[in-house]
Amino acid sequence: MLADIENILEKYYGFSSFRKGQKELIESILMAKDTVAVMPTGSGKSLCYQIPALVFEGVTIVISPLISLMKDQVDALKEMGIKATYINSSISTRELKERLAKTAAGEYKLLYIAPERLNSSRFLNLLQQLKIAMIAVDEAHCVSQWGHDFRPSYLNISRIVEQLNPRPILTAFTATATPAVKNDISTQLKMKDPKIYSTGFDRPNLSFKLRKGIDKDQFLKDYLKVNSEQPGIIYAATRKEVNRIYELLSDLNYEAGRYHAGLSEEQRTDAQEDFIYDKIKIVVATNAFGMGIDKSNVRFVIHYNMPKNMESYYQEAGRAGRDGEPADCILLYAPGDKHIQKFLIEQVESSSKRKEEHLNKLQQMVDYCHTSKCLRSYILNYFGDSKVAQSCGNCSNCNDDRELKDITVEAQKILSCVYRLDQRWGITVTAKVLAGSKSQKILESNFDSLSTYNIMPDYTIKEIKNLINLLIADDYLSQSGAKYPLLKLNKKSYQIMNGELKVEKRMEKEQQKVSEDSELFIILKSVRKEISQKEGVPPYIIFHDSTLKDMCRILPQDRAEMLKVSGVGEVKFERYGQQFLDEILENINSQKG
Ligand code: ADP
Ligand code: ZN
Repeated sequence: MLADIENILEKYYGFSSFRKGQKELIESILMAKDTVAVMPTGSGKSLCYQIPALVFEGVTIVISPLISLMKDQVDALKEMGIKATYINSSISTRELKERLAKTAAGEYKLLYIAPERLNSSRFLNLLQQLKIAMIAVDEAHCVSQWGHDFRPSYLNISRIVEQLNPRPILTAFTATATPAVKNDISTQLKMKDPKIYSTGFDRPNLSFKLRKGIDKDQFLKDYLKVNSEQPGIIYAATRKEVNRIYELLSDLNYEAGRYHAGLSEEQRTDAQEDFIYDKIKIVVATNAFGMGIDKSNVRFVIHYNMPKNMESYYQEAGRAGRDGEPADCILLYAPGDKHIQKFLIEQVESSSKRKEEHLNKLQQMVDYCHTSKCLRSYILNYFGDSKVAQSCGNCSNCNDDRELKDITVEAQKILSCVYRLDQRWGITVTAKVLAGSKSQKILESNFDSLSTYNIMPDYTIKEIKNLINLLIADDYLSQSGAKYPLLKLNKKSYQIMNGELKVEKRMEKEQQKVSEDSELFIILKSVRKEISQKEGVPPYIIFHDSTLKDMCRILPQDRAEMLKVSGVGEVKFERYGQQFLDEILENINSQKG
C-alpha cells in the first residue's frame, strides 16, 4: 500500500516525497479511521484526501464551502489526469443530471459538493445508490459554532452519513482551528473513535514584518519600486482608503485592481479574475477580498491598516506564499488604526459582552504591533501552538538590521510642545506648531507665541506627524478620545523630558526583493500565462511558481529529467512538458552561444 501511495504521488502530482504529516495522515485514512487534520494553509491538505480517494474503490465526496474553490480544485485534478467533478448552484440542470449520472456510473473518483446540497432528500436518495468510500469535509471549522465561519448546513453531514450503508469513512480538514474548535469538529460530525492530527500553524516561508510611525505611502512606493512585478495584495481598512491607494498606484502607472463592497459585482469579478490570471499584479482591497481565492503565487500581502484581530490578520496575511516559496507579510501600523477599528466595533456590536470580546481581541492585535519579541512566536502562541521557538529568524523583530538613530532631542521637543499646548490638541496642530506653520488657525490661537513654536524648522509637518505617531506607537505618548484624539503625556513622556529615557528610531533601508526572478523564470512564466489563457484555467493550475523555479534549478533537457521536477506529473508532462522543455533548451543554447 505504501509503495502505491508513493507511486501515485510521483505519477500524478510529480512530487518525490511526502511532506511533514501527510504520510501518517494518509495511512490513517487508508486504515479506514475517521480522521481530523489541522494543517496550516499551503501545507498540502488536499492531497491527503485525494490520494486515498484514488486508492479506494468507489467515489469520495468532498464537501467544500466555496464555489470558486471547487472549480479550482477540480480543474487542478483534471490537469493531473484525475477524474473529478463538482456540483453546485453555478451549473445548469442539464449539466447537473449529466454529472450525477456519470457519478452513478462510477466515472469519477472525487465529487465536490456544497454543504447546502445535503438539505435535499432527493440528493440523499441518490447518494444511497452510490458506492461511497469516503466523505471528506474541507474547511471543517465551519461545523463549529465556536469557529469564525459557522455554516449551519455543515450540521447535516453527520445525519447524512448515518443514513449511508455501508457507512463511509469520514475525514475533516482545516487550517484554522483553536483547540476547542478542533475537538468540536469530531463531536459535531459524530466521528467514530477519530484520529486527530495537528501539524501546528507555522508557515515558515512567510516573512512577517512590522513597520510603525512611518510614511505609509512612501513605504508602498519604495516597496513596489522593487517588487511590482510580483503578485501582491494591499489591504486597507475602508473603501475610501482603498480608492485613494488605488488612485495613488494608478498615478504611478502600476496596473492595479481594486476590490471592495462598494463596487459593482462586475467590477469586483473583473478585478478578481484579472488578478488570478496574472493580468494585473496588484490588488488593493478591503477584507471583502480573498475568500475563495486559491492563487498560490501571491508574493506579498501588505496591510496598510491594522485589522481588527489576529484571526483576520493571519487569515489575510496567510494568502501569501501558498506555494511554499518565500513571501512577505507586512503590517504598517499607525495608532490611528486602533481608533478606526474601535469605532467600527462600537458601531456594529450592540451587546456589551460581544463588544468587550471584540475590544479584547483588538487589544491583542495592538499588542502584536508593540511586541519587541519574535512576531511569529507571538502569532503561534496566540493560536495555541505549543511547538514554538523563541526566535524564528524570519521576522522583522528577529532579524532587524535597520540602523538605529537617536531621536531623543526631537522627542523632547515634541513632548514639550504637547505640554505647552496644555495637552488639549491633536497630532496635526502639534506638528504645525513645531514646524512653525503660519496657518490661520495657528496664528488666530496665538500659538506662534509659544516657546515651542518653530523649534523643528528642518522638518516638514508630515515628518513631524510621523514622529509623533512613532512616539504613540511605542507608548512614549498617549492619546485620548476616539473621534478627535488629543495628545496626552504619560509616565514615559516625563522620563524622556527629564533625560532619563532615550528614544531611538529604526532607519528604513533600501527595500529588498521578495523574490529574485531569473531571466528563464520570467520566460517560463510567460509560457505558462499563454497556456493558461488558451486553456481557460489560472496559471497556478498549470504549474505552481515553485515548479517553474525547480525547472530553473534543474534545467531538465529531456522527459526523464523533466519528470524529476517537483510538480511535474506524467499527465501534465504529456500536456505541457514539451513547451517548457523547448524554452529551457533554447535558453541553455543561447547562454552557450
Ligand atoms: P492547503 O490545502 O493545505 O492550503 P494545498 O493542498 O493547496 O494546501 O497545497 C499547497 C501547495 O503545496 C500546493 O502547491 C501543492 O501542490 C504543494 N504540495 C503539497 N504536497 C506536496 C509535496 N509532498 N511535495 C511538494 N509539494 C507539495
Ligand atoms: Zn521571529
